[in-house]
Amino acid sequence: MTNLPEIAAAIRHSESVLICGHIMPDGDCLGSVLALGLSLEAMGKKVVMAGPDPIPAIYEFLPGVDRFQTGPPPDGAYDTCIALDCSAPERLGRDYQDLLAKKKVIINIDHHAGSGILGTYCYIDTAAAAVGEIIFDLLKSMQVSISCETAINLYTAIVTDTGSFQYDNVTPDTHRRIAELLEIGVPGAQINVALHEETPKAALVLLREALHTLTMTPCGKVCWMTVTLEMLKNTGALDEHTEGLVNYCRSIRGVEVGLLFREILAGTYKVSLRSKNIVDVNMLAAQFGGGGHAKAAGCVLKGALREIQDKVTRAAVLATGGVL
Ligand code: 5GP
Ligand code: MN
Repeated sequence: MTNLPEIAAAIRHSESVLICGHIMPDGDCLGSVLALGLSLEAMGKKVVMAGPDPIPAIYEFLPGVDRFQTGPPPDGAYDTCIALDCSAPERLGRDYQDLLAKKKVIINIDHHAGSGILGTYCYIDTAAAAVGEIIFDLLKSMQVSISCETAINLYTAIVTDTGSFQYDNVTPDTHRRIAELLEIGVPGAQINVALHEETPKAALVLLREALHTLTMTPCGKVCWMTVTLEMLKNTGALDEHTEGLVNYCRSIRGVEVGLLFREILAGTYKVSLRSKNIVDVNMLAAQFGGGGHAKAAGCVLKGALREIQDKVTRAAVLATGGVL
């Protein structure tokens, strides 16, 4: 484990940098990559910002987003690769895993417990609410002045990974960083509208369909919904519109674990896990080869939906201390 000054020194020594995020990018991933990328560019470095998957439409307002390259890794003679917010190698996608394996200097900056990417330099702060908080601190330690564009990216990274400052990962320092970003000129209310009040109708139609599948265990502590490829096709909604659906399951009184089973390929299901108080869903997801945070985690399982649901919901009930 490295400290921020060592990361800063490694970055100062670099000339050509690839900064990448994880599959199915979220606000923390995109905001952090863009904030660091734009700042390093302003320092005169050659920067490529990239990730394997398409960018959800709600993030199209992020400054510099048109520079974020999606798909296979762009060719280039990078001397340094920086992975942000990627808890495990598989979160990078196959092509980026292969690319990073060949590079000499890899910097892994993350806030997931047990972050599994082997970097030359690893900075993992599980107390950070978002990687955006770490990038904020890194830029400060490098004495880089934070532009308004960078501030908007950092604000978005932090506001999304804290559920708009609702989660218990929020600290007084989170609010201090946010206060500085607002002072730089971040339009907080406008960002909230872009993130939460520009929802396409198809996403709400999908929510209606998903709510039809709402199921609870007899103990009332575990609740789940399902989204199939057919539901996406019928509603015209996209993968990105499933974001947040799992929160409806957790929001019910008495529920401790909320789950969303989402078909990503025929017979392959992504499971999103959320807990309210006591269950560590990172450990629950790890039982099925996944991971994440104590209160938000995910895993991918193959097989018949009924069997997958049976396996995961049983494990969830046991984790709540319930009996089957
Ligand atoms: P979401 O359910 O929103 O996709 O992800 C919630 C959290 O779980 C994120 O912090 C993410 O890093 C983690 N996560 C989601 N899917 C996976 C997975 O398949 N493997 C691992 N290791 N972590 C995941
Ligand atoms: Mn994050």
